[in-house]
Amino acid sequence: MQLIFLGPPGAGKGTMATRVAEDHDIPHISTGDIFRYNINNQTELGLQVKSILDSGELVPDDLTIDLVRDRLSQEDCANGFILDGFPRTIAQAEALQSFSNILCVLNFSIPDEIIVKRLSGRRVHKTSGRTYHVLHNPPKVPGKDDVTGEELIVRSDDQVDSIRKRLAVYYEQTAPLKEFYRNKGMLHEIDATPSPEEVYESMKKILKDA
Ligand code: AMP
Repeated sequence: MQLIFLGPPGAGKGTMATRVAEDHDIPHISTGDIFRYNINNQTELGLQVKSILDSGELVPDDLTIDLVRDRLSQEDCANGFILDGFPRTIAQAEALQSFSNILCVLNFSIPDEIIVKRLSGRRVHKTSGRTYHVLHNPPKVPGKDDVTGEELIVRSDDQVDSIRKRLAVYYEQTAPLKEFYRNKGMLHEIDATPSPEEVYESMKKILKDA
């Protein structure tokens, strides 16, 4: 099962991808998480991309494509994977065609006002990438990760200015991918506005028939 989760930042792709990855025992590959891991660990890649992530712009295609090609060649991807946050440009989507057999793309759609509310309330456990929302999906203890009890943080690119920038980048560079995949008959639409439970149920129905 090779899947792409497409949609604007804050549509809940990461939360849904975590669940589907567990259900099917396949890796959830988030390029954003990979970049943030490298930034937190101050690797060469991390130092290279930090200012780009902070600005809400996209990391250059070449670098991102190489990273994903390499990740998909690893053994744990043999039975499938979920790509979350990749591809984000037509060039990335075209490159991906040459090194994967993806047939199913889920597009999560949601209005901008809800995105801004969701992202500004998002809290993240830095080490694991587990995400919460102060209103809609609060941790058991406010400000603490459910599993480790460690402090939750606000991502630097979840500040309102950065969110607006990421949305503008999404409309300009990533939204055209919907057409790209619709033309190939691979696109399935998901309304990402309802509760996570409802979105999960509608997604399961699509995946059963996909
Ligand atoms: P995300 O966690 O998916 O919202 O990604 C956070 C940030 O990582 C984005 O705003 C980009 O700066 C960078 N990023 C993640 N995935 C990609 C990608 N496929 N292409 C370029 N930049 C990306």
